[in-house]
Amino acid sequence: MNDFLRQVVLSQEQIRQRVSELAREILSLYGDTRLILISILKGSVIFMSDLVRQLPPSTEFYFLQLSSYRDATVPQGKPDFYALPVPDLRGQHVLLVEDILDTGQSLEYAQRHFLEMKPASLRICVLLAKEGYESSPMPKPDFLGFVIPREFVVGYGLDYQERYRGLPEIGIPADL
Ligand code: 5GP
Ligand code: MG
Repeated sequence: MNDFLRQVVLSQEQIRQRVSELAREILSLYGDTRLILISILKGSVIFMSDLVRQLPPSTEFYFLQLSSYRDATVPQGKPDFYALPVPDLRGQHVLLVEDILDTGQSLEYAQRHFLEMKPASLRICVLLAKEGYESSPMPKPDFLGFVIPREFVVGYGLDYQERYRGLPEIGIPADL
């Protein structure tokens, strides 16, 4: 525990183990086929970095910037969207990598954007989902790390007003 968190929700060790399991699940589905990861900035960067280092060296990664929370702790309407360069995705296997799924609005947005590029497959890998996410009509993850309580969490890439992204564990910030 550190002074910045009121409660640890997932320890560094729990995250490490689960990310390795997810990498194995991904590997057993795709094998050696060319796989393109698209990491949704900025929250999923640390997760994606840990994941990609356990996937075949041919795995490519690119980014999409989406922001729905700005500096708040509840979503602020339609996400801001910045498309960053990606290769031609037609006929390719694409895996969207996201930090956390709440209403699913961000992922639905990203999914629609990339489906227009006619990939051979477009799947979703999410580290965390908030309890009750299944009741939303939005996209469901194909790979999911953990279901967590409906609390605002930080660490392992997730921020509160741009802070705490570098914390190795995930928890509830003390200053909230
Ligand atoms: P959704 O669009 O699924 O409602 O929200 C997903 C996005 O909201 C995530 O990509 C993440 O940026 C942000 N988000 C949702 N819940 C949390 C949370 O508990 N902590 C942080 N830091 N961001 C969250
Ligand atoms: Mg995000």
